[in-house]
Amino acid sequence: MDFIRSVALINTENLKKNVENLYKFSNKKIFAVVKADAYGHDACIVSKTLSSLDIVEGFCVATGYEGYLLREAGITKPIIVLGGILKQELELFNRYSLTPVISDFSHFEVAQKLEHKKIHIKFDTGMRRLGFYQSDIEKLKEKIKDFEVEGILSHFPSADTDPDYTKSQIEEFKEIVKMLDVNPKYIHIQNSAGVVYDCPFCNTIRLGIAIYGEKPTQDYPVSLYPVMTVLSKVISVKSVKKGDRISYCGTFKADRDMKVAVVSFGYADGLPRSLSNKGYVLINGKYCKIVGNITMDMTIVDVSDLDTVNVGDDVVIVGKLQDKEIKFSDIAKISGTIAYEIMCGISKRVIRKEV
Ligand code: PLP
Repeated sequence: MDFIRSVALINTENLKKNVENLYKFSNKKIFAVVKADAYGHDACIVSKTLSSLDIVEGFCVATGYEGYLLREAGITKPIIVLGGILKQELELFNRYSLTPVISDFSHFEVAQKLEHKKIHIKFDTGMRRLGFYQSDIEKLKEKIKDFEVEGILSHFPSADTDPDYTKSQIEEFKEIVKMLDVNPKYIHIQNSAGVVYDCPFCNTIRLGIAIYGEKPTQDYPVSLYPVMTVLSKVISVKSVKKGDRISYCGTFKADRDMKVAVVSFGYADGLPRSLSNKGYVLINGKYCKIVGNITMDMTIVDVSDLDTVNVGDDVVIVGKLQDKEIKFSDIAKISGTIAYEIMCGISKRVIRKEV
């Protein structure tokens, strides 16, 4: 691995600690949400690691193809496909024993041809994305006769920001579960931010962001540890003169003679271009500001204050170095998005390595 310039180190011990802490807090078994390549953490590494824990009941993915990739990697625990089932996916669902989340009446037509007949039914209690309404229950009762309803679920859109809305969703979901009256193995609505709500009739939780070490709220009551560290390398060090313009479009003009380093990490690696002239990286124990526009493969940073910086030095894009840290949420804040998007955006060129 020494030939690699940019690497995402995946700390599987921290991943397990996070899951264990979340289980201790909630006392509910966990479906680990590993869609989008486990939020960029490598779904195979994450799922293999978590398969060894009894408290992890199974995995959630978005599409049949993501489920197929996990089975090919040797994952045998249940895999729930959150995004429903389309007719072109039927063969994958059958061959790889994937469980669809049914959220539209048309999904039933495809699911009729499932060999295992296991389904989860999703209700929309406030997200207005996927799911049936309470008013669909009578029609649903007819449709589900041929199936094993293994799970009933719903989803919170704003558990991190709107407790009243979330509590009203829980009440509605409780009523729905009662009305559907099928006694499923799994009842689940809580996501990472949602575990703080009282929801005793639900027996499982679906967790993404928290297992990867990012707290969904400032006062989140569970201790979490970072899972991904993103490192790159300095590939050139040079001086620029006062008045020089740096990088494409010359958006940064040096107001003094400066020393800059070129880092082998650009927007094609997942550093948002919106961080140009705003973000920073860590080199040799110091925060170094990004100067000029981030380019596809490289980013230029101000290293004028560093005593030493050499080609080949490590650069922390996300992670901790001594007492200093750059979190996904820090990058997200500067670039006006959420930590999820930055995590998922760390590209394939950045090699994932289990540590
Ligand atoms: N459940 C569903 C349906 C989701 O779409 C997601 C994430 O997008 C999750 C659970 C996990 O959410 P979080 O990462 O906030 O825990």
